[in-house]
Amino acid sequence: MHIPRTYRTRLITYIGVLTTFLVGILVLTYGSSRELVLDEAHNRLVGLAQQLQGQIHADGADLVERAHMVRDNANFQEYLFIAISLNTDTAALREQYARQFGWLQIDRSVVLSPTGRAIIGPQHRDLAKAVAKRGRSLTSRDSQFYLDGSGGLEMVVTAPVSYRTQPLGVVAVTKRLGTEWMASVRRATGGELLLVKNGSIVASTLNLDPAERTFAAGAERQMLGRNVYLVQGVNLGADAGDSNLYFALSQAELTGRLIKQRDLMLVIAIFGALGVLLVGSLMLSNFSTPIARLTAMIQEVGEGRFPQFSRIPERDEVGYLWNHFAEMVKSLREKQEELQVVHEQLEKQATTDALTGLYNRRYLYDIFPRLWNEAQRQQNRLSVILVDLDLFKTINDRHGHLIGDKVLVMLARVLSQTCRVSDFAFRMGGEEFLVLTQGDVDGAAVLAEKIRTVLEFSVLTGDDYTIRVTASFGVARAEEQDGTKALNQLLARADKALYSAKQGGRNQVVVWPMPRLVVSNRS
Ligand code: GH3
Ligand code: MG
Ligand code: MG
Repeated sequence: MHIPRTYRTRLITYIGVLTTFLVGILVLTYGSSRELVLDEAHNRLVGLAQQLQGQIHADGADLVERAHMVRDNANFQEYLFIAISLNTDTAALREQYARQFGWLQIDRSVVLSPTGRAIIGPQHRDLAKAVAKRGRSLTSRDSQFYLDGSGGLEMVVTAPVSYRTQPLGVVAVTKRLGTEWMASVRRATGGELLLVKNGSIVASTLNLDPAERTFAAGAERQMLGRNVYLVQGVNLGADAGDSNLYFALSQAELTGRLIKQRDLMLVIAIFGALGVLLVGSLMLSNFSTPIARLTAMIQEVGEGRFPQFSRIPERDEVGYLWNHFAEMVKSLREKQEELQVVHEQLEKQATTDALTGLYNRRYLYDIFPRLWNEAQRQQNRLSVILVDLDLFKTINDRHGHLIGDKVLVMLARVLSQTCRVSDFAFRMGGEEFLVLTQGDVDGAAVLAEKIRTVLEFSVLTGDDYTIRVTASFGVARAEEQDGTKALNQLLARADKALYSAKQGGRNQVVVWPMPRLVVSNRS
């Protein structure tokens, strides 16, 4: 029997949809988080690079301030004026300069005369040369540029020096942005610094082999050594020639965070899906299984069976429903049993005679076709004995109807006691009875004779009466050629024989078709 599993299928579908939805959301979240992390990484890179840029510009402003402190020092101006006018030895001036400005945090400084002679810092030839190269304009205004040496960049600030409107030359002070400075930036920011010249890294905080020092300008992401770096240029704020400074963050570090986040999401997704599946299977076992059992139970009831269903604990609605249904089935079963009893009673009433308890005429018509078919199948014969009390009217007249009834009951008892188990005794109506017996007419005639004799010697006694009765008997057998009318034909023949018995003087048995075959005579 097929039980529809729509509820179960729906539940499974819901769980599937929910799981897919959950996983989908997690995948989308993962995708967008990847973008977020990459965005954040880029922002962090740009932010740090800008911070670094700001620092460099601030350092530049500091350096300008220091150059101005030198420029504006009156003492120094006088000493320089004297040294230049007298063209004297400048050793004293250098000593004075060192005393005066030693505390200023300046990496190197030179002072050039208007002719380009290095009065202070002649040992810094490269610096003096670079400053001199900048030309005469240096004596009219400040300038800032970068010098690139082997150790990295060096920030240079120049300022014109004059004494009472007379130009005295130019002072240049520097701050080195060399490997030491790069290392300090690395410590402070966690990022790498790269000094690039003509597509090649000339200095960096990374340990790079000479072969790994190629740099693709303009690429946001590039392989440096073994790792990929996100790279951002740093604006140095002044002329640095061919040199460019770059700030870089390792992508592996950034994606490390990404991978951690992804793993966390994977774990959440797995547990979420497991949770949904668990909840789903719980729902299935909590609802679907009891409902399937309930459905099977309803089906049994629908098919007319009312089996005993044991109660289950009423932990939930389904348990409550189950028990109430079991209760209903129980009362239905009881009702059905009551009905069965009533039905049997009614059936008995419909097939028996109330006064004598024998079968009635209707029952004869009910069972005869079945018995007839069975007899034909087994090649047996069926015979009947039609019994009619003799002169019964006179008994009624003499003793009254009630006593007449007692006579009828007496005859019924005689029939029941004389007949075999396989015989059927009927009250056909009034004081007419019939015995249906298996076998041919001779056997039936013997039985009829036996009944006649027993009845003849039976006595019904009361306080003021003693009644003896006799009866007449017509015996006949069913013939094959009678076909479907067998019973009516049979009864008609038995009636003829009975009539013949009455005609012959009553209290006798007549067998049809033998005309007036008298088995016994009135005693
Ligand atoms: P016969 O020998 O020719 O059969 O005579 P009879 O008097 O028996 O014949 P009849 O058929 O004339 O009478 C039958 C009587 O049976 C008539 C009726 O008063 C009586 N009778 C029929 N049914 C009942 C019954 O249920 N109870 C009683 N007490 N009498 C009945
Ligand atoms: Mg009669
Ligand atoms: Mg009679």
